[in-house]
Amino acid sequence: MPQYKYLFGPVPSRRLGISLGVDLIPPKTCSLNCIYCECGKTTNLTIERKAYVPTEMVLAELKTFLSPTPQLDYITFSGSGEPTLHAGIGEITMFLKENFPAYKIALLTNGTLFFQPELIQEVQKIDLILPSLDAASDLIFKKINRPFHQLKLDSVIKGLRELRKNYTGQFWLEVFIVPGLNDTDDEINRLNNAIEQINPDRVQLNTLDRPGTVSWVKAATRDTLEMIAQKLNRNTEIIANFQKRENVASFNADIESSILQTIRRRPCTVDDLSTTLGLHPNEINKYIETLLRRDLIYPETLERGVFFKINQK
Ligand code: SF4
Repeated sequence: MPQYKYLFGPVPSRRLGISLGVDLIPPKTCSLNCIYCECGKTTNLTIERKAYVPTEMVLAELKTFLSPTPQLDYITFSGSGEPTLHAGIGEITMFLKENFPAYKIALLTNGTLFFQPELIQEVQKIDLILPSLDAASDLIFKKINRPFHQLKLDSVIKGLRELRKNYTGQFWLEVFIVPGLNDTDDEINRLNNAIEQINPDRVQLNTLDRPGTVSWVKAATRDTLEMIAQKLNRNTEIIANFQKRENVASFNADIESSILQTIRRRPCTVDDLSTTLGLHPNEINKYIETLLRRDLIYPETLERGVFFKINQK
């Protein structure tokens, strides 16, 4: 199988099923530096849109991968940073729609850049956009998402409203709950107002399922998420790690067992595993989550990052 630089998976995604990842951004380039980020600390905090990777090489990889018509539920822009920072996202989308129209396209985005009307135009042909919004007050936005200094919450929410008004595809808004920060009555009321204005097709509540960038961040309990879901005046679903990823068709038991064997030899970070096994960190993360949930491994934060170790019990 050819080695791909910009494609990864297909990964087993709880929301997207069999999902081929397209990573347009070098690690770790993002407009936010979220305390829960599973890709590590943002090293290039920016809102500058440009060709971070060569668009023609991404198109060439997509052509090679898709020509034998593999079974996929979605081709998904996601990866090691914020995909909408890539200035070629519109061109890549058009290429897919013209050459491989049978495939649906999804975009996992932090939703911060839609204050730019040209970006809204570029994502028109995407079938499903899944933006995030974790805060509706400046203080909590800064505490959870630690944005690029020129990025203002007002313009983020306004951009999401504009996207909704001008985009006819499916729009699922994700809210990541960080206990102690955005689970208070005040913040949930504010979020509720913002969500009403944005008017997404769905609201999805998520929480931590593997160690984030900041070690004190913990997962919200299922009870907390259910309580928040009831407070939101919307059809809200909980997508956190309470369903089994192992049931998704693209779950690959061989990858899971290679990860386990590698960790058995020595404790590893996600980056170590990615280098050793030649898999994208996002793909590794999907399997780390299932191993953590089954108590087969546990995390330990050391100077070089979060290491995963075998649970001997
Ligand atoms: S927006 Fe996503 S990639 Fe960027 S820092 Fe937050 S969680 Fe990480």
